[in-house]
Amino acid sequence: MFAQDSYPRINIMATSHNEKDTVKKVLVLPIIALLFLTSCLHLESQAESTLEPIPPTLSLIGQFDFGSGLIPEYRSVLQDLSDASFYSIEFIIADDLYHVTGSETIHYTNTENVSLHEVQLRLFPNILGGKMVMGHIKENGNVVTPRYSLNNSLLVIPLERSIEPKESITLSMDFDITVPQSVDLNYGVLAYADNVLALAHAYPMIAVYDEEGWNAEIPPQTGDVTYADMSFFVVTVDAPKKATLAGSGREVSRQDNGGRQTVRYEAGPVRDFYLAASPDYEVFTRAVNGVTLRFYTRDYLQAGAEFALDVAARSLEIFGERYAPYPYTELDFVSTPTHALGIEYPGMIAITHSILEPDNNYLEATIAHETAHQWFYNLVGNDQLDDPWLDESLAQFATLQYFTDEYGSAGEDGFRSTLAGRWSRIGNENIPVGLPVQDYSGAEYSGIIYGRGALFFESLREQMGREAFESFIKSYVQNNAWNIGTTEILKTAAEAQCGCDLSDLFKDWIYP
Ligand SMILES: [Zn+2]
Repeated sequence: MFAQDSYPRINIMATSHNEKDTVKKVLVLPIIALLFLTSCLHLESQAESTLEPIPPTLSLIGQFDFGSGLIPEYRSVLQDLSDASFYSIEFIIADDLYHVTGSETIHYTNTENVSLHEVQLRLFPNILGGKMVMGHIKENGNVVTPRYSLNNSLLVIPLERSIEPKESITLSMDFDITVPQSVDLNYGVLAYADNVLALAHAYPMIAVYDEEGWNAEIPPQTGDVTYADMSFFVVTVDAPKKATLAGSGREVSRQDNGGRQTVRYEAGPVRDFYLAASPDYEVFTRAVNGVTLRFYTRDYLQAGAEFALDVAARSLEIFGERYAPYPYTELDFVSTPTHALGIEYPGMIAITHSILEPDNNYLEATIAHETAHQWFYNLVGNDQLDDPWLDESLAQFATLQYFTDEYGSAGEDGFRSTLAGRWSRIGNENIPVGLPVQDYSGAEYSGIIYGRGALFFESLREQMGREAFESFIKSYVQNNAWNIGTTEILKTAAEAQCGCDLSDLFKDWIYP
């Protein structure tokens, strides 16, 4: 996520940056909309799922070609993640583009070291201004009676018999989504507006089980909403043919039926499945070092999209060199009416339409920042609600490295001044970088997580020495790829490289 604060495109020839102070979008909470969400979430009239049942076996991944979506050096991860959740989803998008029905089967394996008595899933549309109604919820083919909580954004499925470590179950369910027709909540990540359907987090998603147990809460308006493990997705989308579709992963088949189209995607390992659809989309494509880059946007925004693809291609090279290679064979960008400048998804990035317009000051930094999230959020995951600095501050620091590598010290100084600017707008207060999103005001979230948090990594580099620091970032990414990073994992990785105790530095900058 990258929200508007003050992001000039770095003009390396200018001594003063034409920094544009902008009014941070005030997000009005339509509490009334939440009040209208009913607690009755049972869907009576939905047709039975047409999906084939998933056999309870760990060989599911092998039945599909997920390897073709990964560059060769990452393909062995398919064996390592053979216990990851496997989603089979069918979305049917109505001609109006904002009513979506669906069915889902999840092959879920208990990868924890305790037995589980229930499984928890997130129903994000119910807290993103929309409505998600569930029906026909079954465990291993048997109807179950679930519980709902967190404003109906949490579905708790009690298990008939607890599942032991390594044991698997199959969950199946139908759902019916009304997508909000405004971008008022959570930057409009889930919305049909401006002739674009942005279908984010629009399926029942398994919550993360960690040292807190099932880890689910209502996300604050300022940050990202998900915390998810790596999973595999086979998704069929039935949609009006007038809409051009952009989905996570690889498109593996397509069929036209009159005014409708059926497109199938395979995505994985990824932390989420995202789809955008619009009758207005044109597609601009670039191939770079075995990765196909695409930008889905409006025809008149082609120049901005082409520039964005240049920046993305350079970002993949720079971050690939500095951290680890980009894992997938595709990276897609879509433009949407989101209130954020950009939002990250695995192998996909949503960019707000307006910054593609000519001479926009935000585009280059936004593309670099969102591309950096492919390493910090997707490849190495984190609890985006409790540890936002582990993806946002690192993505900002990566953006600083992009400007350094691309434009030398003038680029570095220019982008550093925007980081310092964010922090100075809250008076350079020494608020810890390692707090949950909910502990910051909107201004503090921008100043600390997007400003001070990125500057911390320069202090860390100074204390560790440049060479040890560069090895540390590489080892943090490579040793935690496909897993979840934490503050302690990051600190330990840094201390291992410098052979030093960084507790005081973390006390000064990070710890509450
Ligand atoms: Zn971000």
